[in-house]
Amino acid sequence: MYNDNPTIERLAPKVVDESAQGKVYEAFDTQSDASKRFYIESYGCQMNFSDSEIVASILGEAGYGPTRDLEAADLILINTCSIREKAEDTVRKRLRVFDKVKRRRPGTMVGVLGCMAERLKAKFLEEEKLVDLVVGPDAYRDLPKLVAGAEEGDRGVNVFLSREETYADINPLRLQSNGVTAFISIMRGCDNMCSFCVVPYTRGRERSRSAFSIVAEATDLFDRGFREVTLLGQNVDSYKWAHPETGQVVTFAELLTLTAAVDPDLRVRFSTSHPKDITDDVLYAMRDHQNVCKYIHLPVQSGNSRILDLMNRTYDRAWYQQKINRIYEIMPDCAISSDVITGFCTETEEEHRDTLTMIDYARYSMSYMFYYSERPGTPAARKFEDDVPLAVKKRRLQEIINLQTGISHELNQQDIGKTFRVLIEGESKRSDEDWKGRNSQNKMVIFAKDGTHRPGDYVHVRVTAASSATLLGHHVQS
Ligand code: SAM
Ligand code: SF4
Repeated sequence: MYNDNPTIERLAPKVVDESAQGKVYEAFDTQSDASKRFYIESYGCQMNFSDSEIVASILGEAGYGPTRDLEAADLILINTCSIREKAEDTVRKRLRVFDKVKRRRPGTMVGVLGCMAERLKAKFLEEEKLVDLVVGPDAYRDLPKLVAGAEEGDRGVNVFLSREETYADINPLRLQSNGVTAFISIMRGCDNMCSFCVVPYTRGRERSRSAFSIVAEATDLFDRGFREVTLLGQNVDSYKWAHPETGQVVTFAELLTLTAAVDPDLRVRFSTSHPKDITDDVLYAMRDHQNVCKYIHLPVQSGNSRILDLMNRTYDRAWYQQKINRIYEIMPDCAISSDVITGFCTETEEEHRDTLTMIDYARYSMSYMFYYSERPGTPAARKFEDDVPLAVKKRRLQEIINLQTGISHELNQQDIGKTFRVLIEGESKRSDEDWKGRNSQNKMVIFAKDGTHRPGDYVHVRVTAASSATLLGHHVQS
């Protein structure tokens, strides 16, 4: 009943190496004397998973230790996503499961965190009476107080969206850690107002976190054995932080350079880039630092200029194509991936074909593909009719998936015979005799263990076979 929890799946340690296992369990061991336990499930984007680690740290300070066992928890939290209707349906199902646990164990508190908190606070608290706490993404510092209040019978609600909160001073408790890779949240919120998207309403205005605290977090992670950080934000290229004393501004290109300087053996990734904001300076910073990975997630959403205009993406097809050209010109070995939405309001067959040809043009290594799901309160929901029938949306989505799978397969086949530097992340899911890791282009590489390496090591792997999702190879001397 509980095994569809993505957080728990990630919590399960797959690493056999003893020193790395210590890191995996570090978060749990340090709080084994905690008098109360919390359990947390996270859904949605990487940002949400990263936020759960901030929540864990705040609760740790308040004397709560994490547990992977729902039945043993005093406090059950669900960090929610509102991006698509399906994500919200999943959360509702989970809340009904938690309700059963609560009935069996009176006194257990249940809380909804994240994007659904703001949208559905009244419904959760008053109509459905499923939860004790509703806490928005900018109010996590308030959690201990809200939990204490809820235990006394108060309404535990804070969905206030801040213009300043970045949790810069909080050292996240690495709940989902493999001991090798970690996320660092560099900014919060979004000011872009893409017409289909609920994020600006659920996560508030864009704000950038202090560059010093980001570099300090990266340094601390490196010192603790981590070898890869991913700088996270809804639109990382618009990162901008002014030094409070000197007024000196740090841009995203500069932040990349500062983070890359932590150590040549610390890989730096980032996500997500908005095509309108990624600059040549960012591309040069990537090119000039071997440890900044040659991989850009550059969501196109649609390949048709009229639809892009309706989506308020602020670029058109030709402009996006130029950006793709520029990336490949500066870094011929760069991999690019995308997000695509099919069946947006009024999209015709011909406009849909523009998305197919764009995928072909950009040669994405992979894409996250969705059919349009109207979100209440967004500009698209207010202004446009959601008029593409579901069956058509789904058929277009399938066409896009088929095309992308073929391109991914083709690109991976072209990697056969090449040798890549791979960072070992842990054991392969399929076999404990194989390691899994990623190359700079973010492609998963599987290769046989030879007894000399461990997670966190860099190795050279020669690719001998490939599917659309994975490269297979063997370790070679560099
Ligand atoms: N900030 C990122 C960006 O601009 O690409 C990602 C935001 S969102 C968390 C991730 C993806 O969800 C979007 O890129 C978009 O493709 C998809 N998405 C957002 N709203 C959607 C909606 N209403 N229906 C379907 N897909 C949606
Ligand atoms: Fe949503 Fe657009 Fe902001 Fe991404 S950039 S979070 S799609 S509004």
